[in-house]
Amino acid sequence: MKDLIIIGAGCAGLTAALYAARAGKSVLIFEKESIGGQIASSPLIENYPGVPRMSGIEFADHLFSQVTELGVELEIDEVIKIEPQESVHHVFTSNQKYEAKAVIIATGAKHRTLGLDKEELLTGHGVSYCALCDGAFFKNKRVAVIGGGNTAITEALYLSTYCESVTVIHRRDSFRADLSLMNQAESRSNIFWIKDTIVQELQGDQKLSGLKLLNTKTNSTSSLSVDGLFVAIGHLPQTNPFSGLVPIDSEGFFDIGEDCKTPVPSIYVAGDCRKKNMRQLTTAVADGANASMAVSNT
Ligand code: NAP
Repeated sequence: MKDLIIIGAGCAGLTAALYAARAGKSVLIFEKESIGGQIASSPLIENYPGVPRMSGIEFADHLFSQVTELGVELEIDEVIKIEPQESVHHVFTSNQKYEAKAVIIATGAKHRTLGLDKEELLTGHGVSYCALCDGAFFKNKRVAVIGGGNTAITEALYLSTYCESVTVIHRRDSFRADLSLMNQAESRSNIFWIKDTIVQELQGDQKLSGLKLLNTKTNSTSSLSVDGLFVAIGHLPQTNPFSGLVPIDSEGFFDIGEDCKTPVPSIYVAGDCRKKNMRQLTTAVADGANASMAVSNT
C-alpha cells in the first residue's frame, strides 16, 4: 500500500511526485506510454523560468531523475479504474489491483487528428504529430504544418532549421500563438503561410505526396506538393476511464478548480487533463505542486 498513487508521468504527475516524496510520502506512478508526456515532444522550451533553452526530452529526463533519486517508483502500465474506498482507494490496471491512501490523476491530453481519410494509413509515412520525433526524416524536404497555436509555430520554427520549406496552413487568418514565436517564424525566409485554409485530402498511397486544400473564404481548392505533414491542432483530454468519478466539462476536461480537489475525498486531478485557461509547462507543474500539497494537508 502506498501513500500516493499518481496516474501519468507527465510534468504535472512528476512534479506531484517530487513534492510528495520530499514530504516523506511513498509514491508509485503509473505511465502507459512515455515519461514526460507532451513536453517530451517539444523541440525547445524557452519560456520556463530559469531554464533559458532546453529540449523537452532533456527537461523530462532531468525531472524523472530528480524524482527517482527520491525513491519514487514507476510502473509502465495503464490504469483502467479507480474504486474509491473510505480510507484506502483501489487502483486497477488490467491485471492487478493496487492500494493507496490518495490518488492524483494527471493523465494529460493527446494530440487531435484531422479526421481525414488515409490519415491513419499515412501516419509514419509522411504524416506526423511530432516534429521533434520525426523532423529529421525530412531534411532538405518540403513540409507543411497545420495549426495556428504555439505547438504549430514552435514546430514550424524547428522544422525550418533543416527542411527546404515549411508551409504553415491555418484555418483562420489570425493566430493564437505567442507574438514572440510569430515574430521569429515570420522572419524565417523558408516559412510560408497559407491562411483561411483547411486540408481536404491527403494525397499519395504508400507515402504522402501532397495536400488538397480548400480556402474557406473563397471556396477555391488548390494542391500543395509536400513530403511531410505535421499536424499540430491541439489536444484531447485523456479523462475517459475516470469520467464516472470526477465531473467532466463539455470538452471532456476534468471540471475541477485550481485546488485540484475532486468531490471524492483524497482523489485529485492535475495538469492538462483539468479544465483551465492556459495549458503551459508552468501551469502543469503548478497543478502538480497544488495537488501534492493538498494530499499532504489531508
Ligand atoms: P492550441 O493552442 O489549442 O492550438 C490549436 C490550433 O489548431 C489552433 O490554431 C486551432 O485553430 C487549430 N485547430 C484546432 N482544430 C483544428 C482542425 N480540426 N483543423 C485545423 N485546425 C485546427 O493547441 P497547441 O498549439 O497544441 O497548444 C496547447 C497548449 O500548450 C497552449 O496553451 C499552448 O500555449 C501550450 N504550448 C506552449 C508551448 C511553449 O510554451 N513553448 C509550446 C507548445 C504548446 P483556431 O485558432 O482556429 O481554434
